[in-house]
Amino acid sequence: MPSFASNKSFAGVENKMAGQSSPANEHEPFFRPMLKVSDALIQREPETKTDSPTVKKPDLSSVSATDPASSKSPGVINAALLASKYANYFSGKLKDAGAIDAKKKFFIELNQGDFVNQYNKCYGTSVTTLSGTKGFYCPATQEIHLIPNAEFGMAFHEAVHKTSTLARAVDNNNAWKAEPKFAFDIDEGLTSFYSKDILESDYKINNYTDGYASQRKRAAAFIKTYGEDEVAKFYFQYDFMPLLKKFGVTSIRGDMNTILVSKLKSAF
Ligand SMILES: [Zn+2]
Repeated sequence: MPSFASNKSFAGVENKMAGQSSPANEHEPFFRPMLKVSDALIQREPETKTDSPTVKKPDLSSVSATDPASSKSPGVINAALLASKYANYFSGKLKDAGAIDAKKKFFIELNQGDFVNQYNKCYGTSVTTLSGTKGFYCPATQEIHLIPNAEFGMAFHEAVHKTSTLARAVDNNNAWKAEPKFAFDIDEGLTSFYSKDILESDYKINNYTDGYASQRKRAAAFIKTYGEDEVAKFYFQYDFMPLLKKFGVTSIRGDMNTILVSKLKSAF
């Protein structure tokens, strides 16, 4: 997902929606016939739980969000995420190609031209400039690409995208594809919220900023109303049954994603 877009046109996002074809999400059925929310909750297998919730936190006391990103950043970020307060929701993903520090999955481009080329390659677009976009996560390849001179905070933001299953749903599902601006706002808002929250509350790094302050504010209010656990399950695992329950949905008729997006649009 492109981040830190300074203009609010969604050309990049829409291009992305049009061009993306990543492998289907292995965990989540996008279409399921009528069932009770409570049944679905019972049927779900638990996913991405760590055996021990107490992974030792890396020392990030000398790290600032505005430090230059470097070849050391992915290892630091991977360790920081694994020891973060939300680790139980995604730690199972941070291995093999899913790790932030996996080989050839994290790139700080040498020049802007290379960055634009990588973006086009990921999303099947042919844009010539990407002013305002500082980085993106490509779900199809599990790669993070950053602009030259990228900062640690930007790398962290893209890494949080990588921990999320929402982005894949947004790319692959018609109910989401029909609402590209809303999909963008909720995905970036939650990514921004979790990036800032982890850096501040887990690591006392208090100078994280991005271009999504307004979406982040909406995300914070949304989480406050509908629950930390419910929203985290939705964002990190695309397990949206707990959230639907909070919305008062007790049985599903029709496409679950359509119902979900419609409810989210009123709630977020
Ligand atoms: Zn982003």
